[in-house]
Amino acid sequence: MAKDYYDILGVSKNATDDEIKKAFRKAAHKHHPDKEGGDEAKFKEINEAYQVLSDKQKRSQYDQFGSGFEQAGAGGGQGFGGFDFSGFAGGQNGFNFEFGGDGGGFGDIFGDIFGGGGRGQRQTQKKGNDISLDIEITLEEAVVDTEKDLNVYLASACSQCKGAGARSGSNWVKCKTCHGLGQIKKERRTMLGFFAQMEVCQDCQGYGEKPEKSCDKCGGDGKVKENKTIKIKIPAGIADGQTIRLSGQGESGFRPASGKSVAGDLYITVHVRTHSLFRRKEDDLIYDLEINYSQAVLGDKIKIPTISGDISLKIPAGIQSGKIISLKDRGLPHLQSRGKGDMFVVVLVRTPRNISRKQRKILEELKKEGL
Ligand SMILES: [Zn+2]
Ligand SMILES: [Zn+2]
Repeated sequence: MAKDYYDILGVSKNATDDEIKKAFRKAAHKHHPDKEGGDEAKFKEINEAYQVLSDKQKRSQYDQFGSGFEQAGAGGGQGFGGFDFSGFAGGQNGFNFEFGGDGGGFGDIFGDIFGGGGRGQRQTQKKGNDISLDIEITLEEAVVDTEKDLNVYLASACSQCKGAGARSGSNWVKCKTCHGLGQIKKERRTMLGFFAQMEVCQDCQGYGEKPEKSCDKCGGDGKVKENKTIKIKIPAGIADGQTIRLSGQGESGFRPASGKSVAGDLYITVHVRTHSLFRRKEDDLIYDLEINYSQAVLGDKIKIPTISGDISLKIPAGIQSGKIISLKDRGLPHLQSRGKGDMFVVVLVRTPRNISRKQRKILEELKKEGL
């Protein structure tokens, strides 16, 4: 038999939210089971009524479906919200309660009555899975903005139903598993008594409705796993191990066309390969340059590599081994800011190991000259 929630709270069918809230407060105070003359059954009933009437969506469903909706609660209509008082049966330990689903609006009132202790939990928007990927680039690619094609295997909006989940022309019906509530009550026993927890209905993923005929490509999920090529832009100056986040480029949520889900994010961790010539230190590059003894003494002009092509470098006469020549702005661009790092050329004078007879003769002459 259907309960009349308006009657339970003693308000009219046209009662405003405020009137309902006030009526609930008054009734809850009066029948609170911890009070002298309190009535637990009545108190539960009041809460149940308030759970439905204080929620716009549930109230309109209740107004519309009445007793049919009532049945959904499985003996007492407790399935309406993420709130339950079965903990009272446990007695001494006080109240065991759980907020779930959209019980948030209830929290302040609960706080009023019981002196705090309610904890609200808002349902967040449904989100597809985040995807994490690794990509390796060369140091040359890290110097400029680089575009890369990434092949990803992930859930995307189904091309056949355009993410709706329904076969074309199919009607939408209330989910039979949760009776349109989107949630299913699960009870669990703990040391403190019974907890009732509302869990998202797996059948409709909390949407409360299903297509009468599901799309045969995606089975009604509105998304399918497939290989996809995603173009990504790696900004110049990226460091080894840095992660780029592409918001909304992860997996599609459940039935993306419904607008009730958002896609997850894509996280790309960039690994910059070690270079054979240059060592990187933040945005600076270090290059070891070996020169001969004669080049060091007499000076020279030689071609050396930089990360962006060869340049001609002047070696001043009389340079000492270990001396560093700095080349301004020949390093990597600063990530997302102006300017560049520098390149440092470490000049090392090479001592030859194997020399020809002619070279030996010349060197012996030099030795005699005190060089
Ligand atoms: Zn589909
Ligand atoms: Zn369902």
